[in-house]
This record gives sequence, C-alpha cells and structure tokens, in this order.
Amino acid sequence: MRMRKGDMVVVITGDDAGKTPRKVVRVLDGGERILVEGVNRVYKHVKKGHPSSPQGGRISRELPISSSNAMVYCAHCTKGVRVGTRVSEQSRERYCKVCKGSLGVIGRQKADA
Ligand SMILES: [Zn+2]
Repeated sequence: MRMRKGDMVVVITGDDAGKTPRKVVRVLDGGERILVEGVNRVYKHVKKGHPSSPQGGRISRELPISSSNAMVYCAHCTKGVRVGTRVSEQSRERYCKVCKGSLGVIGRQKADA
C-alpha cells in the first residue's frame, strides 16, 4: 500500500505502536519506508557548537520505518484500515476498505516524496 506525505497513519508494530494517528512527514524508497512524526525517535547527544544544535545537549530525530508496519488512518472508522484505489473518469481516489469512505483524490500520479 502506498502512503503519501501528509497521510495520517497508525503504527502497528514496534515501540511506537498504538491507536493514535500520526502524520507521515516523508516517504522514502518509493513508498517502501516512511518517516512518521514522533515515531522511532532517537536521541543524539551533541557537544556545544554543533551546527544543528549550537547549545549542545540532546537532539532528537525520527528514523524511517517500513511502510508495512503502518496502516492509513480512517477518520470515519477511527482506526488504521486497508486502503483501496478506485478510478472514475475524472480522477483516482483512495478509499477505506472498511467503510468505503473516500480518503482523498489522487490528482496526478506524481510521487511527492
Ligand atoms: Zn473507514
């Protein structure tokens, strides 16, 4: 299942698994991996004067997770769901396979990774 930048997803495995929807901030490797806000966060200790942290201390960043470890969140079902794609003459859109509700139109088939 392809996820897109800005999608809300629910992480289903790992330390950050839970029901809280989180935002996809980056899509990597053509959709194989995703970077999710607040998930798989690591802390790095840096000395004072480091370019990314002039004050020193701890800086945190997220590491990508496999997109197979997350599901797209459906606001109607309030959970992570499987997503299908349906095509009409004007557009393609993704939809929730549980409630059949639309999860948004895919305008162009351009990866916005
Ligand atoms: Zn749904």
